[in-house]
Amino acid sequence: MYPASFDYQKAESVDQALAALAANPDLKIIAGGHSLLPAMKLRLAQPPALLDIWSLEELKGIRREGDTFVVGAMTTHADVLRSELPLFPEVASWVGDPMVRNRGTIGGSLAHADPSADYPAAALALGVEFVIRGPGGERTVHADDMFQGMFESAVQPGELLTHLSIPATIQASAYEKFRHPASHYAVVGVAVARHASGEIRAAYTGAAEKAHRLTRLEDAVRAGQIAATGLVDASDLLGDRFASAEYRAHLVDVLAARAIERLG
Ligand SMILES: Cc1cc2nc3c(=O)[nH]c(=O)nc-3n(C[C@H](O)[C@H](O)[C@H](O)COP(=O)(O)OP(=O)(O)OC[C@H]3O[C@@H](n4cnc5c(N)ncnc54)[C@H](O)[C@@H]3O)c2cc1C
Repeated sequence: MYPASFDYQKAESVDQALAALAANPDLKIIAGGHSLLPAMKLRLAQPPALLDIWSLEELKGIRREGDTFVVGAMTTHADVLRSELPLFPEVASWVGDPMVRNRGTIGGSLAHADPSADYPAAALALGVEFVIRGPGGERTVHADDMFQGMFESAVQPGELLTHLSIPATIQASAYEKFRHPASHYAVVGVAVARHASGEIRAAYTGAAEKAHRLTRLEDAVRAGQIAATGLVDASDLLGDRFASAEYRAHLVDVLAARAIERLG
């Protein structure tokens, strides 16, 4: 399978990338290419022009600033896996296979907002803040507002997700996933994190049109319950030939119980 023909240009810096995006509304960012290229090969996406941000070193790497980790959007899943970040290394270990992890990026995954992707649940559980630059300057979006629909994040055309801010004070976290045996994407994934305040945040992915907070689990834990069922209504979930909505609802309960147990 071959993609439709497209123009290609390579970004030399973040400023130059933003100028190129402002000058050409047809320009589509390509990061690791591990979601965009398969979609192009299937002709599900046919961008007329690509802006390659792979070599932007200023968007790579992880550093600690006080109580926060600052993570460049172009940091690969493999580098996330080897890092000291809370929760994300465990989640990265579940992403695809070594080839995908060596090339795919944390920013690409989160900007793409695939409903079966792993990271969105972790971002919601950790309360990540996203730094986005565009024609209007720089803005920060909280994880609760980042995932807006199926393949729809808060990152708008013409904008570049540059960094993530992740709390470095997380006390405990866990990710439990039931993965599709062929694609490795999440049939359901549940992430939980205990924050420095003692607050538990939880989220699920794979089961609906986008990742969501698992508020009934958060309420149950606050009320002192260790296990809870009926955490999501099947009528709010998606079913397909791999797993019905009812089965996904059951998986959310099972995976949430395992994740909470691991928090200790
Ligand atoms: C075989 C296979 C198995 C996989 N398994 C899993 C899995 O188990 N779990 C999982 O979560 N994912 C999985 N993936 C997806 C993988 O994690 C991708 O790397 C990721 O979803 C996209 O990151 P990328 O850097 O490749 O982005 P790209 O494919 O380059 O881009 C994806 C989208 O995000 C936009 N974008 C990218 N970076 C930015 C940015 N900095 N600012 C603004 N927009 C941006 C692009 O314009 C595009 O629309 C799999 C992929 C493959 C091919």
